[in-house]
Amino acid sequence: MNKIELIREDITKLEVDAIVNAANKSLLGGGGVDGAIHRAAGPYLKKECETLGGAETGQAKLTKGYDLPASYVIHTVGPVWNGGNNNEEELLEKAYRNSLKLAAMNEFETIAFPNISTGVYHFPRELAADIAIKTVRDFQQDNEFPRKVYFVCFDDDNFNIYNQKL
Ligand code: ADP
Repeated sequence: MNKIELIREDITKLEVDAIVNAANKSLLGGGGVDGAIHRAAGPYLKKECETLGGAETGQAKLTKGYDLPASYVIHTVGPVWNGGNNNEEELLEKAYRNSLKLAAMNEFETIAFPNISTGVYHFPRELAADIAIKTVRDFQQDNEFPRKVYFVCFDDDNFNIYNQKL
């Protein structure tokens, strides 16, 4: 079985154990993929998020998926790109790794990542894809779960970048 798969989809449509949300530190919803996930999950997602106390950049926290086809949401905070000398690369790697750790701890078979930080947070897309792919491959070498990781690309640009790299 292929352990990584690239798909071009709206992440809110996926029937997986967990989808990852590219959240902001408040964990209370926002624009982009975050807004789409909150809209599709319904208001109880925000209620649960209100109990989490926010998150630092690179951290990840788990909630249920409510009205989503996915069972759970892993909320992680990617770094805002700020020139590249502010630990951005390490923080993006942490966001992926901490999300994967939550999936492993909960023995999730399937998890789907959006292209964290590459929207309004302006992380360079090629670099973000390299970090995402390497972090997932390294993790999968040492861990049984998650068995399958989907990279979900919503825009053509990211899809083409991932397609080439994978
Ligand atoms: P960030 O603040 O981390 O940059 P954004 O939500 O602005 O987060 O963008 C992250 C990525 O999510 C972008 O590549 C964008 O194309 C993608 N995206 C936006 N909506 C969706 C969606 N419904 N499903 C999957 N990916 C999405």
